[in-house]
Amino acid sequence: MSDLERAEPYGVLLYYKYASVPDLDELVSFYERSCNSLGLLGRVRLAAHGVNVTVGGKLSALEEHIDVVKSNALFEGTDFKLASCDQPLNDKVAKECGFTSLSIRVVEELVTFSSHPLVRSPDISFAGRHLSALEFHSVLQSAGKLLDEGSPTSSERLVLLDARNLYETRIGKFHTPGLETLDPQIRQYSDLHDWIDDNSERLQGKCILMYCTGGIRCEMASAYIKGKGSGFENVYQLYGGIQRYLEQFPDGGFFKGKNFVFDHRISVGSSNANVISTCLLCSCPFDDYSTRCRCASCRMLVLVCDSCRQVEGSIYTCELCQKHSKCGLSTPATENCKSEVLPREIKLSTLSSERQGFGASRKLRILCLHGFRQNASSFKGRTASLAKKLRNIAELVFVDAPHELCFIFQPPVIDGHSELSTEHRGPPPKEKCKKKFAWLVPPDFTAGSEADWKEADGPFDPLQYQQQTGGFDSSLAYLKSMYLQEGPFDGILGFSQGAAMAALVCAHKDKLKGEMNFRFAILCSGFTLNLAEFEHGSINCPSLHIFGRDHGRDRQIPNKASADLSEYFENGSRVVIQHDSGHIIPTRSPYIDEIKNFLQQFL
Ligand SMILES: [Zn+2]
Ligand SMILES: [Zn+2]
Repeated sequence: MSDLERAEPYGVLLYYKYASVPDLDELVSFYERSCNSLGLLGRVRLAAHGVNVTVGGKLSALEEHIDVVKSNALFEGTDFKLASCDQPLNDKVAKECGFTSLSIRVVEELVTFSSHPLVRSPDISFAGRHLSALEFHSVLQSAGKLLDEGSPTSSERLVLLDARNLYETRIGKFHTPGLETLDPQIRQYSDLHDWIDDNSERLQGKCILMYCTGGIRCEMASAYIKGKGSGFENVYQLYGGIQRYLEQFPDGGFFKGKNFVFDHRISVGSSNANVISTCLLCSCPFDDYSTRCRCASCRMLVLVCDSCRQVEGSIYTCELCQKHSKCGLSTPATENCKSEVLPREIKLSTLSSERQGFGASRKLRILCLHGFRQNASSFKGRTASLAKKLRNIAELVFVDAPHELCFIFQPPVIDGHSELSTEHRGPPPKEKCKKKFAWLVPPDFTAGSEADWKEADGPFDPLQYQQQTGGFDSSLAYLKSMYLQEGPFDGILGFSQGAAMAALVCAHKDKLKGEMNFRFAILCSGFTLNLAEFEHGSINCPSLHIFGRDHGRDRQIPNKASADLSEYFENGSRVVIQHDSGHIIPTRSPYIDEIKNFLQQFL
């Protein structure tokens, strides 16, 4: 990047809009066109009921994007939050905040309101009434005044509810003398609805003022609270969130500390923001999350000051995990939940994808690596039966491998001319794209060079899987970032080339400690690649090997290749299942019971 380009002001744009989207495909194409042509990076989430966008780029490009979006009637009344700021501090920050690429995804929900499969998202039309920053401020002000005048009747009924996560509220929150701010102390937004359920007595009959960073989390949560019916009518939300409030009150107003943001700015303070939080280890005043220190158990961001960070090999445990290990709670204890410990634990065991539950009721989270020329969604489809049969003990999480192989789609015929080049045609509708990925690629592979690969129509080369020996380092770096974003995981499952990759990760397990922790590996139809420097029996990781019998029906990976891979793993903790089901993961009995038996030891 030239100095001139660097000098051009850079910015971050955030906006969301709940509206019924008539044509989702068209909206995907619209965002692909607009963001790509303007060089915007970041996250775009699209759903049938709206959009949620966080993008960064040149300020002028962001302004242009706003103009185009505004011209679409769908976005009428949208609150665009545009801020000029510096470019990401470093690559790590940029990567964690999703500012190294453009990710446009169609999702079920704009924000995950609950990870519980039986909890339906609230009807957004129930959302609490919006209060502008000025209105919000004056309510807080008059609550304080009433208190001063000794007439607490109405202020007693008023509660402030912070809808954000614990690590956010630690560095900044609203504070009005005499008025209670409820801080649910949750690790993630999807835990909020449980907190609301557990605390509904505290909320009933109250006038609830809610706030979050930019407003979107309050939309859902306020609708959920109002949906509880009688006694929950008076729910208000700060329109535009803390961000708009701080713009209106540059000195901070009733907001103390800094506003945590999910882009690379990390946090935004008022002109006189105090440091209201402390270092996890030494308790000195500290509120800088830019070093991205995380709890080793639950991966939540923690505050560790510069000098404490110098201590090598430190493993951090967040305050919630510390509390958990002290009193055996499975969830953060809030002031009034002491009597609710038991029901809460029982409830946890019924959650299907509880990410941060602990104790015996927790499910195993397994990171699943697909085979060569597959992708996360195709592998998820192929293993649906396995996921279903393991649903009580494990959650399977699927990711695309980082090396993209090809991009197959049917070129649409436009005006009878099919020769129009791609740039004239624009990107094809989403469902016609089928990207295929690999963990390991031929050593001379360069990204994009295979863009026009087609399925080989010659005879299948039975040894071709052995030719992809390159690309491990970048795949490993990618998996580390997956751990940061989606982790923690208890184990890794790999299929075919994914198993070859997983085995290599196992071989480096000791070196990866702290960055990628896992307790077991499941290798299905695996084979060895790049393991020459290791000895048989030297990989110290409990392993389950599932592959086709000799003379069985797996014609892609011969029995001997998978058996050879299993030999590299320590004998005492190695389990082998041989089947005659072909190039798949068998889920009928007795195989499924053997798989469950293996997993049981890690629960
Ligand atoms: Zn410290
Ligand atoms: Zn933790």
